[in-house]
Amino acid sequence: MKFEGKVAVVTGGSRGIGRAIAEELGRGGASVVVNYHSGADSAAEVVDSITQAGGQAAAHQADVGDPQQAQGLTQFAITHFGDLHILVNNAGIIRDGLIMTMKESDWDDVLRTNLKATFNCSKAAVRHMIRKRYGRIINITSVAGQMGNPGQTNYSASKAGQIGLTRALAREVGSRNVTVNAVAAGYIETDIWKDTPEAARLALLGLIPLGRAGQPAEVAKAVAFLASDDAGYVTGHVLAIDGGMAMR
Ligand code: NAP
Repeated sequence: MKFEGKVAVVTGGSRGIGRAIAEELGRGGASVVVNYHSGADSAAEVVDSITQAGGQAAAHQADVGDPQQAQGLTQFAITHFGDLHILVNNAGIIRDGLIMTMKESDWDDVLRTNLKATFNCSKAAVRHMIRKRYGRIINITSVAGQMGNPGQTNYSASKAGQIGLTRALAREVGSRNVTVNAVAAGYIETDIWKDTPEAARLALLGLIPLGRAGQPAEVAKAVAFLASDDAGYVTGHVLAIDGGMAMR
């Protein structure tokens, strides 16, 4: 039980990759706050699955793009479970389109949910972590932030921004035993792709040396490593879980 006694917050923990991360940390003994935005039923299912497996979990609604709600989320972990050791900034959305026709609101929404939320939650968590001289922050970024994806200028910019934030914050808080890392996921089978045309998905598959999409559980294993004490000397790192898609 490598997370025994640890408290974790997973933003967007109600579905897809976030759900797999919440369950993986819960299986490892962490008390997990499952954050969601609108999916109360899905979040309740994740809490059930963790508690039925013998773990501890609680759901908390918050729009993490809003600074006060992000603050409320980290505070919930501290009041409900008594501490906060692990923050996984996972919540994310896409609003694809070519730049010439992209609505300003699609740019703003994606930057707010993917990048500003990472700032909001990290800011809210880091004061506590510094005081406790322990913290693990893991940001879920994407190959799109490294390679760029056509039709995703907003998403690619938000994901590249998360990588910059990861490295800057790692330098800021390293001396206080708080590590900050990112996982750059490739093409992982989740709801996020539900509106993406089949042709675009097949084109992505063609770029993956391993020749298949990844599963949320494969990302969760990487997050669990970075959240564990085994990764105590790893910070500012971007770990690719992408089937080789973005290798250089
Ligand atoms: P998903 O299945 O669509 O799930 C998105 C999650 O984010 C949901 O739990 C959703 O909550 C939550 N969320 C959305 N807006 C939120 C907000 N304002 N506040 C709080 N929670 C919010 O997506 P996914 O594929 O698992 O993606 C998870 C992360 O991995 C994202 O950051 C994404 O960019 C990244 N990623 C995904 C892939 C991929 O191929 N799937 C690849 C690279 C990176 P509700 O259920 O309440 O709406």
